[in-house]
Amino acid sequence: MVIRDAHTRRQVLKAAIGGAAGIVLGEPAFAASPLRRGQAASGTAATQQLSDDLFLVTIPGETNVLAQTTRGGVLLVDGASAAGADALIRAVTALPGGGPVHTLFNTHWHPEQTGSNEAVGKAGKAIIAQENTKLWLSTDVTWSWNQKRFKRLPKIAQPNKSFYTSGKLESGVQYGYIPDAAHTDGDLYVYFPQQNVLAVGDVVSGQGWPVVDWQTGGWIGGIVGGLQRLQTIANADTRIVPGRGPVLTLADVKKQSEMYGEIYNRLATMLNKGRGPSEAVEAKPTKEFDAQMGNGDEFVRRSFESLWAYLSPDA
Ligand SMILES: [Zn+2]
Repeated sequence: MVIRDAHTRRQVLKAAIGGAAGIVLGEPAFAASPLRRGQAASGTAATQQLSDDLFLVTIPGETNVLAQTTRGGVLLVDGASAAGADALIRAVTALPGGGPVHTLFNTHWHPEQTGSNEAVGKAGKAIIAQENTKLWLSTDVTWSWNQKRFKRLPKIAQPNKSFYTSGKLESGVQYGYIPDAAHTDGDLYVYFPQQNVLAVGDVVSGQGWPVVDWQTGGWIGGIVGGLQRLQTIANADTRIVPGRGPVLTLADVKKQSEMYGEIYNRLATMLNKGRGPSEAVEAKPTKEFDAQMGNGDEFVRRSFESLWAYLSPDA
């Protein structure tokens, strides 16, 4: 019930900030968005073996996919975009011990993660997601900042095993909700205890500034909270698979959590002084990190808008 209340509250918040966000609609579209459909999706998959049965599969233009080969087929954490789904299925079939997919985790609702849902659903296999992810996949979403529209998935492609807090497969694989709203309000992790590998989707970005999707609940405070939470799940030897970029360690996540904590403080200070998103962008609150992370303007604007959603007194 708490989660349903949160959903209702967010609808109200969205309505409240929708008008304010309209100010930035004249800005150029998010041309550098990593959420753009991967044009290079027909490229050849690369695989990195993390253990006997775990493989990081990367297809050009697609986000990371973690594949576990088991006696009964393959478990996937995320399923590429619709454009990359065929290449992914070919890649996981060709893995040593590979085969048909029996379980697919959606770390969140974004199309970069859910493009294989339809094929897996039609095959009658399990699609596991947090309840909020299922809700987003069963409704149309429009991003207020660039009017990008996302159609709901057909019923057969929607998660058929949703959960609220956590769960465990018979194989011992553990999964759980990351309730901080780091990227969306439906983020999940999948932990493979025997291999000590933790897949976290876009809660961690291993490559450039993340998308702050406040339309579906994500916010800069959630990034900080999510990164702190992951440090309680992972240990020093855990290999952490982010949605994008190379495999990370606990030390990498700790470093990121400090960086986002600092940026959060700077933005919150500006919010408290009555500043707006454009002033926040001009203040360059990410400047000492941009050489490593890339231009932070879009990230700062979305992050600031996300503060409106969560911290504004009238929100
Ligand atoms: Zn995402």
